[in-house]
Amino acid sequence: MTQPSRQAFVPFVSVDHMMRLVLQVGIETLMVELADAIEADFRRWPEFDKTPRVASHSDIGVIELMPTSDGQQYGFKYVNGHPGNMRRGLQTVTAFGVLADVATGYPVMISEMTILTALRTAATSAMAAKWLAPKDARVMAMIGNGAQSEFQALAMKAVCGIEEVRLYDIDPAATRKCAANLAGRGLRVTSCKAPEEATMGAQIITTCTADKQYATILTDNMVGGGVHINAVGGDCPGKTELHRDILMRSGIFVEYPPQTRIEGEIQQLDPDHPVIELWQVIAGEAPGRTGLSQVTLFDSVGFAIEDFSALRHIHRRLQDTGLFQELDMIADPDDPRDLFGMICRAEAANAA
Ligand code: NAD
Repeated sequence: MTQPSRQAFVPFVSVDHMMRLVLQVGIETLMVELADAIEADFRRWPEFDKTPRVASHSDIGVIELMPTSDGQQYGFKYVNGHPGNMRRGLQTVTAFGVLADVATGYPVMISEMTILTALRTAATSAMAAKWLAPKDARVMAMIGNGAQSEFQALAMKAVCGIEEVRLYDIDPAATRKCAANLAGRGLRVTSCKAPEEATMGAQIITTCTADKQYATILTDNMVGGGVHINAVGGDCPGKTELHRDILMRSGIFVEYPPQTRIEGEIQQLDPDHPVIELWQVIAGEAPGRTGLSQVTLFDSVGFAIEDFSALRHIHRRLQDTGLFQELDMIADPDDPRDLFGMICRAEAANAA
């Protein structure tokens, strides 16, 4: 006998739900949790399927798919990067993602990832800085005060104990926005008129600008000994932020070399220039910072495992918060071969 159709609902985390989750958990607590989740997955790096993200480039931007799996669960993110969007009143980066069960192939969660990308990027930056920056770092320069910037500042405060951020952007309106958003959040915020003013006395320099060109946000003379550079904005072929001379005298740490060689600051270097994979530092297989005067560089481009960790963490959080809605996503008749019968039954129901 043909069974009635059942519907398999998939939890969907909307932008509204993600914002409520951030407020309920607390943004700093959530970023600490994400940093821990990402670090735990970096520690078991060899268990993951890895591939450079699949990018579709145009003259003005890129659309990318970022898949990975640990054999139990599979995740992917859809993300764009369009530096010109901001001038049209649109986000530079938007994203959504899917988490799925490897055993059945069924999706177990769909989520907005524009906010989650900002959270996970900041959590990854702070996690890397925890391993690489000077232990007594208290001042960070934040060059580029756009959508990612407040997240970067607060993650560095929560994970690394940063007390002061020194802001600079070519657009003073962006700096005003960032300073206003950070007011009253426990950071000393200094707005600067030049990048040199921002980097002066900073132990961590974060660059997070958006421009599809080989830009020079930092020149060699702006980076003193012992500084940790968190380079976030150069994440695409033809889109970098640092002068090559800085790279030549830095210890360079990356997520996944086959992707970073294409997209990161190191696209400016020879393909065999030595880099260290961050996961190896965390797993105790490679040294991190080797001295007080070493310049360390986290050449961040964003890797699929960070999104996977973030999606899994949000999925775990759904149980206790209930902050999701159910999406009627999967056509799942009780008799799996009777997919057409579902339509027949719907037709009969409509006719009745
Ligand atoms: P955004 O457009 O909101 O902000 C970028 C800011 O950079 C703007 O305020 C702009 O005025 C400023 N800027 C541009 N050129 C500058 C310069 N020469 N000096 C100082 N400021 C300058 O973008 P966003 O969402 O904050 O993203 C910033 C960058 O980070 C983008 O390039 C994006 O692709 C990248 N990103 C990387 C990751 C990662 O995992 N590595 C994740 C998300 C975003």
